Amino acid sequence: MPVTPADLPSVAEVGRGPRLEAPSPSSGHPREGGDLSRPPFGFRPDVVLPGGRGRTGVISTPHGEIRTPAFIAVGTKATVKAVLPESVAAVGAQAVLANAYHLYLQPGSDIVDAAGGLGAFMNWPGPTFTDSGGFQVMSLGVGFKKVLAMDTVGLANDDVIAEGKQRLAHVDDDGVTFQSHLNGDKHRFTPEVSMRIQHELGADIMFAFDELTTLMNTRGYQERSVERTHAWAARCLAEHDRLTAVRSHRPYQALFGVVQGAQYEDLRRLAARDLAALEVSGRAFDGFGIGGALEKENLGTIVGWVTDELPFDKPRHLLGISEPDDFFAAIEAGADTFDCVMPSRVARNGALYTPNGRFNVVTAANRRNFAPIDDECDCYTCAHYTRAYLHHLFKAKEMLASTLSTIHNERFTVRLVDDIRASIETGDFDAFRTEFLGRFYSGRR
Ligand SMILES: [Zn+2]
Repeated sequence: MPVTPADLPSVAEVGRGPRLEAPSPSSGHPREGGDLSRPPFGFRPDVVLPGGRGRTGVISTPHGEIRTPAFIAVGTKATVKAVLPESVAAVGAQAVLANAYHLYLQPGSDIVDAAGGLGAFMNWPGPTFTDSGGFQVMSLGVGFKKVLAMDTVGLANDDVIAEGKQRLAHVDDDGVTFQSHLNGDKHRFTPEVSMRIQHELGADIMFAFDELTTLMNTRGYQERSVERTHAWAARCLAEHDRLTAVRSHRPYQALFGVVQGAQYEDLRRLAARDLAALEVSGRAFDGFGIGGALEKENLGTIVGWVTDELPFDKPRHLLGISEPDDFFAAIEAGADTFDCVMPSRVARNGALYTPNGRFNVVTAANRRNFAPIDDECDCYTCAHYTRAYLHHLFKAKEMLASTLSTIHNERFTVRLVDDIRASIETGDFDAFRTEFLGRFYSGRR
């Protein structure tokens, strides 16, 4: 059946993302969005998995609710690369996470503030997150990025994090001095600076400034790092409390403490317990991030140590995972929200997810394949385009290749986490995990 333009659905017809509204023509001021009359922030756990850790729930923010577990789309520089906010909503993403380091350097957090905050600036009316910038200031240094990619041959222990002449970042007890990856300019981040930047960016959920370590660091370094991160967490809470009072004209921004401790059970539990108990001027963390190096094979175990020590009625965000087996393990262990650049990053290289695993549409096998990426997928790309067309777009280096591929991979990832949530609600979590992972990792495509 031929498709005419009239048949094309609005991209907003699919998914359950926030509804985008046109800017008010009568207002000459930037739209701040957010509703000052709503309860500022909250989390309500709902159905709990047998085992007592994994759960569904609802996070409330001034810009709307997030039903958890949920995958949060990454918009590092206030854009989910290659796609319109309407498409981000159409794939069902409930929230977007941007990065404080990148937006501080460009265009400057003061400009985002003047625009009315991150959501108004990027035309995303739903909930937003920013991460603290800690990961970037400590990982974008020369040589260090390679180490993070696990290319650790010839490097020992603390060499990867200790002061180094080739590194762009230098960590001390007060903060981090680093050089911009854009032009080499020197900057300094402290807990107070990160809080100021994140308040200016105005996201609904922010993260405390923490120190990044890797699995390569020695036990002694990890111990000192947990102490340092705890001290920084207290300074973040104090500055957050001050800025919240000063900026009372803005919707409330929630602050999550970040649990470090690498692969050590005692350090992870201690860090989680201490952050959960931390109060400054009567203010505690609204939720928690689980950060740092996680061994894939122990992911669920490590997340479980942490969630055991955290209050059940506060949300937990796990930074940086996107593989299907990792979602199941982390959700069962009690993580609620996730973000990862991977689905959109690999999409721009032609790597696409299907229920039968990942494949690359740029390979010659797809040249004459007139089937959709995934005939079970409800995304805009799969409804209207073939593998052969995507293959052509990538070969011809057309920009639309990235757009269509990103829409599919983001939809796949958001829907997987949505389906896991549904399986918890219906009591089918274990059966769904067995079925999904069995098929995904069986190698059939
Ligand atoms: Zn699709």
